[in-house]
Amino acid sequence: MARYTDAACRLCRREGVKLFLKGDRCFSAKCGIEKRAYPPGQHGQGRTRFSDYGVQLREKQKVKRMYGLLEKQFAQTMKRASRMKGRAGENLLLLLERRLDNVVFRMGFATSRAEARQLVRHGHFLIDGRRTTIPSFQVKEGSKIAVREKSRKVARIAGALETLEGRSVPQWVEIDTENFEGTVKSMPVREDITMPIQEQLIVELYSR
Ligand code: SF4
Repeated sequence: MARYTDAACRLCRREGVKLFLKGDRCFSAKCGIEKRAYPPGQHGQGRTRFSDYGVQLREKQKVKRMYGLLEKQFAQTMKRASRMKGRAGENLLLLLERRLDNVVFRMGFATSRAEARQLVRHGHFLIDGRRTTIPSFQVKEGSKIAVREKSRKVARIAGALETLEGRSVPQWVEIDTENFEGTVKSMPVREDITMPIQEQLIVELYSR
């Protein structure tokens, strides 16, 4: 599958906000946006004015990059969110939040969503006792996510759990680090997503 392989920090600098794409580095002084808080490229430090469309596009790109999705996957999620009851923008964020790769990241088994995605792809997790390798899998209330017995020694998982204290675990998940497992206590709600996101702009972009 196609994936973005250029420098991750460029994406944060483009969106003007920390997207937490590089694990522990994001919490250190080495963070790209801390060092160069302006958009990348030759004209990055020039004046930037966005049209309405530009503002909506940037908001969509920000969320898409934050959750590590490609355009097609993101558009499909938006379509699904629009068909659901309630506000499409809110539904979109909650569908993204319930993705297995995001939940693995939120529980602290990985230091970034990209890392979580790879660990899921490599089959290191059991969901309610069954091995799942689909990063877009939607977790449910009560779902139990456990690291497979054989995978407990994987350095990236053990390392991520060691540095868990520096990161915040949302209140809708519960983590048992001793047993390498976590539970989805309840479904996330909009208030649980604390990143500055104006989802209405994304809905407006897709309804053009
Ligand atoms: Fe973004 Fe993390 Fe790079 Fe900072 S270190 S710019 S938060 S990816």
